[in-house]
Amino acid sequence: MPIPPPPPSRAEYIWFDGDFVPWEAAQVHVLSHVLHYGSSVFEGIRCYRTPGGPAVFRLREHVLRLLFSAKVARMDLPFGEDALFDACLNSVRRNGFESCYLRPIVFRGAGSMGVLPVDNPIHVAVAAWDWGAYLGKEAIEQGVDVMVSSWRKMPPGTLPALIKMGGAYAMATLAKLEATRLGFSEAILLDFEGRVAEGTGENLFAVLDGKLMTPNLGHSILGGITRRSVMQLARDHGIEVSEEPLTRDMLYMVQEIFFTGTAAEVTPVRSVDGLAVGKGKPGPITRKLQADFFDIVNGRVADRHEWLTCVPAATRATPA
Ligand code: PMP
Repeated sequence: MPIPPPPPSRAEYIWFDGDFVPWEAAQVHVLSHVLHYGSSVFEGIRCYRTPGGPAVFRLREHVLRLLFSAKVARMDLPFGEDALFDACLNSVRRNGFESCYLRPIVFRGAGSMGVLPVDNPIHVAVAAWDWGAYLGKEAIEQGVDVMVSSWRKMPPGTLPALIKMGGAYAMATLAKLEATRLGFSEAILLDFEGRVAEGTGENLFAVLDGKLMTPNLGHSILGGITRRSVMQLARDHGIEVSEEPLTRDMLYMVQEIFFTGTAAEVTPVRSVDGLAVGKGKPGPITRKLQADFFDIVNGRVADRHEWLTCVPAATRATPA
């Protein structure tokens, strides 16, 4: 079977069903249920380089969200919370990363070919690779130009937006392809009623007259872990935060917009549909929250909310 090209800086090992296997050996059969029906749930987690060694951001919360996604998708996991937690930490250690992106995934494997998974095993893997700024380093500094997608988020009662299910990203891919084809970096998706939901892989925040606003969980969004963290940082700074419906025209009215996400971190939005957001450059509240976020995850200031799990240096060299 031809081996796909490696990501830019891939790990040597992938944790696959309980063991570390060489990157090339972590393969699935073409008749895997997941390939046909999108039956996976997954996570995206970042490990940062800090003066105290590699540290994983909010690992426990990510593992718990993976378990929640699996529960809703009715996938019985052969591994528990602690085993998954350790698998993530060991993926950093075993591959000798200082910083990396971690991708745990739970999926239905080969077995019955019908939609009903009868005898399809549940597989679990954790992959790691070096992933810089998702929307580009310049994006973090200058902001991104985005469009409101012609694609909508799935309405309530269809695909659950609160879980990270593989199949849901088929729609995100359509929106991302549309945006990039038209020269934008990212798409903003509206929910079925036309209210703002989120980006294809990011939550959205807006600032109006000093108040930070973000759509609430009822608007077909993922309950982002970075979202929750940034809301906490805003409160730390005495900034009022409110979860409330946002409309498309409010995006044109607010003074600041930014995305949050594990991959995108805190990325300012400088224009929507070709209209400048505020002065067309990252605003003061975005800057403040962004700086605080990066100072914490990079270990430049105290980890006051205990968001980081250090990967101890002594065990990083664990032999095979
Ligand atoms: N929304 C969607 C659709 C996502 O895929 C992500 C990335 N996980 C987010 C929001 C941001 O979530 P988090 O901050 O937990 O990465």
